[in-house]
Amino acid sequence: MGEAPACLVDDLQNGFSNGFGSKSKHLESSVVIGDKEYIIGRTDNESTLSIGVKIFVRSKGQWVTPIVLGAKPKLSKDHSAVLVKEDRILVIKKGSTSDDCIWFLEIDTGYVREQKKILGTEVVAWSKGVRGNAEKPVVISGPSGVGKGTLIAMLMKEFPTMFGFSVSHTTRAPRGMEKDGIHYHFTERSVMEAEIKDGKFLEFASVHGNLYGTSIEAVEVVADSGKRCILDIDVQGARSVRASSLEAVFIFVCPPSMNELEKRLRARGTETEEQILKRLRNAEAEIEQGKSSGIFDHILYNDNLEDCYENLKKILGLDRNMPVDDSSPKGIDLPEEHSVSKLDNKILINCGTSELGKASKNLIVLDVSSPSGGAPGRTRGLKVYSVDSFSDGLNGIDSLS
Ligand code: ADP
Ligand code: 5GP
Repeated sequence: MGEAPACLVDDLQNGFSNGFGSKSKHLESSVVIGDKEYIIGRTDNESTLSIGVKIFVRSKGQWVTPIVLGAKPKLSKDHSAVLVKEDRILVIKKGSTSDDCIWFLEIDTGYVREQKKILGTEVVAWSKGVRGNAEKPVVISGPSGVGKGTLIAMLMKEFPTMFGFSVSHTTRAPRGMEKDGIHYHFTERSVMEAEIKDGKFLEFASVHGNLYGTSIEAVEVVADSGKRCILDIDVQGARSVRASSLEAVFIFVCPPSMNELEKRLRARGTETEEQILKRLRNAEAEIEQGKSSGIFDHILYNDNLEDCYENLKKILGLDRNMPVDDSSPKGIDLPEEHSVSKLDNKILINCGTSELGKASKNLIVLDVSSPSGGAPGRTRGLKVYSVDSFSDGLNGIDSLS
């Protein structure tokens, strides 16, 4: 399987029949990988106005409509598509905003392979590319009443622009102050089960008799806002995430004692006696697994709240003496007119006007050798270089800043 540069197909001109229907002014691109040809272009559903994907299986002469996961890029009038490492296609939109121009169509990444197995059908996933470091999401687990919510609230209050909470789905009833869409997406069991079947969940588990789960979208909403995602999920959920393609920091919060845990649960006053007893019964097994399963990178003891909070911040590199890292993901500014080429693991975006005999004056280089993953199917951490003067061929790339 070799590199397959995108070829742009204007189906108005050549009447190409590709399963998208007929009339469109949007250009499509086609990338061939082995037996499959991926046609990336106009949406097949006019109401979504997002870029559509179809697969042509050459040996069978058949069109396949894959399940498309991840937030989809909005339609643009033109784009380039380049195969990267045979597991994903880089799509560069023209005339889009800096935070919306670089996308990856994942066709054979770990996450997509996982989903193909679960769903038993052809799957692709969109992920957005941004420049800068992608902080790993933070998974926080621990028995009910240990103080997870309290610690997360403290973190979000002190660092409102840095962290975003992954809003889980649950079939349990809302507590007095809880709001739908903020604390949880409160959902009917049948609806949630159907969505799980459709591959919309990163993980789910039955906890204290109710269904809880993290939708892919919940994590993506946070990642798209450029924030570091915090997940408050139980040990089973943490185990699933650990086994998935989502790279995260896993923290388990322990109570100082079972008596203290019981006191906190009762003092919170949000559960019936029966529910409190169920949560306490489950707590022992959770603590046992949390400490011994090897899932968690860090164990925190929440005895004194302030001390525990300081330790949490240390784990996340946020202690008072440390400079705040300002390398959060940023967009990439591209002019509407540019051309794209590939050299090894570098994508060269030529933004200058090309005069005959002169090399480009303005080149943006995307290093796609090791895009780091944040959310599922989400690609972050692209290294981006820009070159103002580029007259000596490609020798200059390594010394770019
Ligand atoms: P969780 O989210 O783990 O179920 P919460 O954050 O709701 O737990 O905390 C349960 C109760 O314990 C709350 O009333 C909270 O104010 C209290 N709490 C949390 N941490 C401490 C602590 N270190 N000492 C005493 N009470 C605490
Ligand atoms: P509560 O009902 O107290 O809000 O939450 C009960 C338990 O469910 C807690 O241990 C919490 O971490 C866990 N939980 C909340 N959301 C999720 C989720 O999306 N997935 C999983 N696996 N557990 C969750």
